[in-house]
Amino acid sequence: MENWDVIIVGAGSAGLSAGVYTVRSGLKTLILDEKLPGGTIADASIVVNYPGFAEISGGDLAEKMTSHARKAGAAIHDLEAVTELNLASENKIVKTSRATYEAKAIIFSTGSHYREIGVKGEKEFRGRGVSYCGVCDGPFFKDKRVLVIGGGNTACITTLYLSGLASQVIVTHRRHAFRAEESLVSDISAKNNVTVMWNTEVQEIKGDKQVKAVTLLDNLTGKTSELSVDAVFVQIGEAPNSQLAKAAGVETDEHGYIKVDAHQQTNLPGVFAAGDVTNQPVKQVGTAVGQGITAALEAYSFIRRPYYRK
Ligand SMILES: Cc1cc2nc3c(=O)[nH]c(=O)nc-3n(C[C@H](O)[C@H](O)[C@H](O)COP(=O)(O)OP(=O)(O)OC[C@H]3O[C@@H](n4cnc5c(N)ncnc54)[C@H](O)[C@@H]3O)c2cc1C
Repeated sequence: MENWDVIIVGAGSAGLSAGVYTVRSGLKTLILDEKLPGGTIADASIVVNYPGFAEISGGDLAEKMTSHARKAGAAIHDLEAVTELNLASENKIVKTSRATYEAKAIIFSTGSHYREIGVKGEKEFRGRGVSYCGVCDGPFFKDKRVLVIGGGNTACITTLYLSGLASQVIVTHRRHAFRAEESLVSDISAKNNVTVMWNTEVQEIKGDKQVKAVTLLDNLTGKTSELSVDAVFVQIGEAPNSQLAKAAGVETDEHGYIKVDAHQQTNLPGVFAAGDVTNQPVKQVGTAVGQGITAALEAYSFIRRPYYRK
C-alpha cells in the first residue's frame, strides 16, 4: 500500500491550492480526481472576478492551477475516483477505482454540483447561454432578455441581481408562489423589468450557437408556448458531493454540506474540508482557494506539530 502524508480528494480550485501549500510545507501529497484536474471552474466560459486575472477563460485558469500544483511537486492522479474511506484510525485508508492508499491527513475538496432541470438542450447549451451562476455569467447578458428558473431564495437573489443588468428578466416557477424570504419577494415585485410566470415549466431549451428560445408548459392548462430569450439561469439549488465523506463518518449539515470550523477542520481528527463541499456560505474560486490553503496549513500542523491544537 502506498503511503502519503496528505491525500486530497478533488482537484478543483480548493484541492489544487491545498496541494501547493502541503507540498511547500514538505508533506508528500497525492491529489485524486475522478475527472480531469481543474474542477468546476473549467466549465466557465470567462472568469472576470478572480484577482490577478482581469479576464481569463475558466479552462485556462483550471489549467494554470493544475500545472502550478504539479510544478510545486504534488502527485495528481486524474480519472481515479475515490470510492471508499476508512477514517477511524490514525492512518486513514483511501480506496479508489485503481488502488488503496494510506495517509496521515485527508482534505475533502469534492465540490458540489448544480441541480439540473433535465430538459432537452440543457447540457448542449451549458456555457452557451445556459448558466447555473448569476454572479459569474450575468454580466455577459447586459441589456439582454434572460430567463431564471426556480422559486427559492437563490432564484430570487439571482433575479434581483440580473434585473440590474438585463433589459428584461422572466422568472418561471412550477408552483404558484415563491418559497423565499418575504423581503426578496417584495423586492422582486418592485422591479418593473421582472415578470413572473407561475405554474410554468421549461420543457426545452433551443438555439444554434447560443440559446435563442425556450418551450414553456403551463402546468395548469397543459398549453405550451415558445419564448425568445438570450440566456437561461437554472437556479433550483445545488447539492454537495459529500456522500463519500458522510459514509466515512464526517458530519454534514441538514443540506449535506460538510461542517467545518474556522480551521477547515471536520469532526474527525486529521480530516479537513475546503471549497464548495463545505458549509461555508460563499461558493467562488477565491473562497475555495483560501479555504484550501487553510486546510493545507492546518493539515501540516496536525501532522508535524500535533501539540499545536491542544
Ligand atoms: C458555469 C460556472 C461558472 C462559474 N464562474 C465562476 C466565476 O466566474 N468566478 C468564481 O469565482 N466562481 C465561479 N464559479 C464557481 C466555482 O467554479 C466554484 O466555486 C469552484 O470551482 C469551487 O471549487 P472546489 O475546488 O470547491 O470544487 P470543484 O471545482 O467543483 O472541484 C471538485 C473536484 O472534485 C472532484 N471529485 C468529486 N468527487 C470525487 C471523488 N469521489 N473522487 C475523486 N474526485 C472527486 C470533481 O471531479 C472535481 O474536479 C462558476 C461555476 C460554474 C458552474
